Parts: sequence; C-alpha cells; structure tokens
Amino acid sequence: MSDLAHDDAVAARFARLKARERILEVSGLVKTFDGKDGERTVLGGIDLVTHRREFLCVVGPSGCGKSTLVRAIAGLETIQGGEIKVAGRRVEGPGPDRAMVFQGYTLFPWLTVLRNVSFGLRMAGVGKVEADRQAGQWLDLVGLEPYAGVYPAQLSGGMKQRVAIARALAIQPRILLMDEPFSALDAKTRARMQTYLIDIWRKIDVTVVFITHDLDEAVLLADRILVLKANPGEVVELMEVPALRPAGGRSLDDPALKATL
Ligand code: ADP
Ligand code: MG
Repeated sequence: MSDLAHDDAVAARFARLKARERILEVSGLVKTFDGKDGERTVLGGIDLVTHRREFLCVVGPSGCGKSTLVRAIAGLETIQGGEIKVAGRRVEGPGPDRAMVFQGYTLFPWLTVLRNVSFGLRMAGVGKVEADRQAGQWLDLVGLEPYAGVYPAQLSGGMKQRVAIARALAIQPRILLMDEPFSALDAKTRARMQTYLIDIWRKIDVTVVFITHDLDEAVLLADRILVLKANPGEVVELMEVPALRPAGGRSLDDPALKATL
C-alpha cells in the first residue's frame, strides 16, 4: 500500500470509530486536593470522548493525575468542576455501568475463584444459581473455568488478574477502567496478559480506558492514546494509533458479535 493509501485507510478507520455511540464524555473535569500549602489543581480541565468498543490508553509522567482521572470516571472522587457522562447520562458516584481493575488484584482470599466473580452479580441482585452460572461463563472467557473451585492464593499473579478482569466484566459494564493492571507482573506474563485482554475485548461490547506508564504497551493495545502532562494534569494530545487490527475490535455488524449484544 502506498503511504497516501495507508493514510486514507487509517483516516477511514478512525472516522468509523468516531461515528459510533459516545460511551464516555468527560468535559472540563477539574480535580483539586487540599494540601498543606493550600489547594492544588491535579486535573486542570480534562476533555475526552471515547466511543463504543474503543480501546483508549492514557499515558503521562508519574503524578500527572492518571489514577485520579480514572478514579473520577469511576465515581470514586468528588470533582470540583466539569461533568462525566456515560452513554449520554450524567453520572455522579459509582455505578454498574463502570467497572475497575487495579494493579493489586483485590480478590477476596476467603472466596473461591467462582464466588469472587459471582460476588458482584449477587450484589446486583442476581440469584445464587444464576450468578454462579454467569460467573462460570466469564471464567471460561478468561480461560480459568478449571480453577473455579480454588482459592486466589493458589493462583499465579497473571491468573489472579484474569479473575479480576472476569469479575469486572461479569456486571457487564459499558466501560472497563484499568489502572496499570499489569505493571506488577513480570515481562513474560505481562505480554501474555496483553494478548488475553485484546482477545477478550474483541469478543464483548465494552469500552476500555487503560492507564499505563509504558508507551510500548499503549501502542500495542490502544486505538487512541491520551497523553497527559503534569502540574496541572492536562491533555497534551489525543493520538490515533495506526494499528493493523480493526479499530474498536470487530465490526458491530459482525453476526457473531451481534449475538452477544
Ligand atoms: P498518576 O497516577 O499519574 O501517577 P495520581 O493521579 O496518582 O497520578 O496523582 C496525581 C497527583 O495528585 C499527585 O501529585 C498526587 O500526590 C496527588 N494526589 C492523588 N491522590 C491524592 C489525595 N487523596 N490527596 C492529596 N493528593 C493526592
Ligand atoms: Mg497512578
């Protein structure tokens, strides 16, 4: 393909992505913390739109406010300005339309793998038998069905993180927020987890906001990369990544995908 034809293909890919439903709209988001030297602005007015089934990575130097941004989107931080909309509805506080995966696995050590995944479903009012059935399906998706009955302590770091992903997805959020989920893993496991995550994300209808300080990881995973700077945290750039895979996973017209919607 000539350079020009390649540029056209990339432009068309992102035009298609941006024509999709707006799943996350952040506008003018301001976050301040009170410190001993007075008020500090950590996020100085963030604007951001992500589309259905997009994979967005957020990068920036340590302390620029990446975690604060995803925590605010998750509804875990009060904000001092701006607003956050999920699928067109303004949100304040946490909700089942957003799920989060952290670097620490935060699994309940006293519950089996299956019950860790079904926990969120039970909280959402799903009956025990049905919650266990659905949890089994999510474990199957992350390749851990055979481990349903074991306890987290018996799993490797990568496996624990796959359980955490299954647990987050089980409530069928519109947005999966991931804050440096693989940084505690060794390089080989991290590479495997990146492949797993892309595989899983392609199969389901979820928009991912993935924080990383590793630009290589962002380039590998993202449709688009949001670059933040520090003091105050502000958007420097929103880069479109000319990856070879289709933007936002498979086409929404794919019959196999439609069956899962
Ligand atoms: P990043 O994830 O990009 O490394 P963070 O979002 O964790 O950055 O933090 C951004 C800035 O906000 C840092 O300077 C941090 O010290 C400050 N900060 C984060 N949480 C709090 C808090 N609860 N109270 C006061 N300052 C905070
Ligand atoms: Mg952080």
